[in-house]
Amino acid sequence: MPIATTNPATGEVLKTFEPLSADQIELRLRAAVDGFAALKRTSFEQRATWMRRAADILEAERDQIAALMTTEMGKTLASAKGEVTKCATGCRYYAEHAEAFLADEPRDAKAVKAIRAYTRYQPLGPVLAIMPWNFPLWQAIRFAAPALMAGNVGLLKHASNVPQTALFLGELFRRAGFGEGAFQPLLIASGQVEAVLTDHRVRAATLTGSEPAGRSVAQVAGRNLKKTVLELGGNDPFIVMPSAELDKAADVAVIARCQNNGQSCIAAKRFIVHTDVYDAFTDLFIRKMSALKVGDPMDERTDVGPLATKQGLHDADEQVRDAVANGAKVLLGGKPLDRPGWWYPPTVVAGITPEMRMWHEEVFAPVAGLYRASSYSEAIEIANDSPYGLGSNAWTNDPDEQERFAGDLDAGMVFVNGMTTSYPELPFGGVKHSGYGRELAEIGIREFCNIKTVWVG
Ligand code: NAP
Repeated sequence: MPIATTNPATGEVLKTFEPLSADQIELRLRAAVDGFAALKRTSFEQRATWMRRAADILEAERDQIAALMTTEMGKTLASAKGEVTKCATGCRYYAEHAEAFLADEPRDAKAVKAIRAYTRYQPLGPVLAIMPWNFPLWQAIRFAAPALMAGNVGLLKHASNVPQTALFLGELFRRAGFGEGAFQPLLIASGQVEAVLTDHRVRAATLTGSEPAGRSVAQVAGRNLKKTVLELGGNDPFIVMPSAELDKAADVAVIARCQNNGQSCIAAKRFIVHTDVYDAFTDLFIRKMSALKVGDPMDERTDVGPLATKQGLHDADEQVRDAVANGAKVLLGGKPLDRPGWWYPPTVVAGITPEMRMWHEEVFAPVAGLYRASSYSEAIEIANDSPYGLGSNAWTNDPDEQERFAGDLDAGMVFVNGMTTSYPELPFGGVKHSGYGRELAEIGIREFCNIKTVWVG
């Protein structure tokens, strides 16, 4: 993909960028090494002051950065503003808590025949962050805020369609007070990632993106014995049981599927409904999905804007066609909209079977698959029959069932009577092909630390 800002609402290329040359990358690697040497000597207090300043800048410039994101990847302006605010909250969270999360932890000295023994968390050095376009600010901040607070420095290889958001992120941390080499955008193509990742100065990598990208980066990192955190795709189940509050479940189902124009890793994608409430839930769901306003993402009244890329539109169209060719029934939508740009309307497809791609693959568009389950066990069986295991949602007011879902769903996150959401306070991540490692909370900040054991005799 060329490095360019292209408006997905119109298909118009607005600005293109040349990828960095090997010499330019070398300069940034040197700056990262110098930046790390300086940053690791600063205090938590100093870094927290800069991190809070970054939050202030985000809040002060919320509307401009939101409009930039909407222009580059088509999310609605309202959701883009919400994303900026969430990023400021994430920065403040780590400014406040990083020191406590990374404080020395005393160990049982007597048991190990020491006078003192403890665990110390120390930064690793330059970390390469490979990020997707779908939450172009939040995905990067979710890595950057804990990494910088721990004393690591970041090199950001952002998705090729959000270069201006990437450049803003580099400026943000520089303006906030972090040194030149603390957080640098690298405008490079995915083919240039291997060279950067194999460089001895890069100590680790985090990737948020698709399964193929995750495999590729993990292979390179593995060959070079570098730690990785992978946040990959998802095909989250949204299970509705007879005791659920159906109207509320249907309201949330619509948001959970169509947020970010249907392009979220933790979007609910497979709606598994108990047969006793299948017809009632389906009626409500279709009514609410069809009420969504599709249109100009810059218009604050719009619910669903365009897909971010032409390829994304093609992929979603192919997946729905495949389901229909194999016997699925389209209850709503089901075809790209005939207008400039990349538009796919809210869609509901019923009767998904294991022969169809939609059973196994993530659909990155506002396309919901409906599944009928005759029992709790069948609902769990369908939910877990997926290569992915990121988030999961179960709707039930039966306390016993709530506990069983929490235990039985094979996923990194289970939300009961709610939709999967990321909060700075909760660890975020998946199992199976959704990746490994965790972001956010105290676990996220420790992922890129040397957990050093100290024994004093
Ligand atoms: P993508 O195509 O995998 O791209 C993600 C990033 O990886 C981009 O910066 C991309 O660069 C780079 N990349 C792609 N192939 C690569 C390779 N072989 N080697 C090195 N880098 C490579 O994903 P996307 O389309 O931007 O994002 C959608 C996917 O991300 C979905 O599957 C979604 O579920 C997943 N996602 C997961 C989470 C999570 O937290 N688990 C969050 C958000 C999104 P280029 O743009 O230059 O190709």
